[in-house]
Amino acid sequence: DTSSPEIPLFELKLSNISMDDMLSNFMQQSVMYKACQTKIDPRATSQHSVGMVQYAFVNADCLNMSVNDPFYRRCLQHSCHKVFADGSGIRIASLWKGFSPKDNLNGTDMFPRLCEQVAEHNLSIFLLGGAAGIAAKTAENMQHKYPNLTIAGTHHGYFDSVENEQAVIAQINASGASILLVAMGAPKQEVWLEKHQPVLNVAVGIGVGGLFDFYSE
Ligand code: UDP
Repeated sequence: DTSSPEIPLFELKLSNISMDDMLSNFMQQSVMYKACQTKIDPRATSQHSVGMVQYAFVNADCLNMSVNDPFYRRCLQHSCHKVFADGSGIRIASLWKGFSPKDNLNGTDMFPRLCEQVAEHNLSIFLLGGAAGIAAKTAENMQHKYPNLTIAGTHHGYFDSVENEQAVIAQINASGASILLVAMGAPKQEVWLEKHQPVLNVAVGIGVGGLFDFYSE
């Protein structure tokens, strides 16, 4: 059934939407967030967050992990606005259950299209995660490919202290980015976004696994 809006697998409900609809979700959320922020009393902006919306990609590996890891599972169930059906393993599992995913929703295919749309909408993104230099190199490559793209900032994904982590959050908030991509692998990235959701001043937070390793080449 391709028309079902959700695909239930184990205890998760995967969003059965197209790549186009997924991207327009991110854009709408970002545009709405910006509009809300400009209406907020500027004296209150440092304390006030309109609310980051968290999204996750779930491949077969992630699905297996979610069965054994209650923290990750609850994060996907309760803290993520939508979780997306990622990869052929999920496709096969869905077909077994009588559901046909509309698209293979994965970070690798999404990223160039996200960059294109972020540029078109005059938004910006922040790249967090990967080893030192990887997010920065990814930013350089994408900016070269999409000259109108604004990458508001980058940071590696290895924090050696709470103070450093707080500094990174401050950097993200000061960057003005609407969309935060977190590439620390699942479930670390999902749990990180969930934990810091209340203090992150971005519209959209998405866990993207090893995405920057690939795009930094
Ligand atoms: N990573 C990170 N911080 C950590 C642990 C991992 O930034 O504390 C990064 C790592 O450098 C790699 C990515 O997270 O770029 C994990 O990639 P992997 O392919 O394992 O993730 P998956 O796509 O399988 O979720």
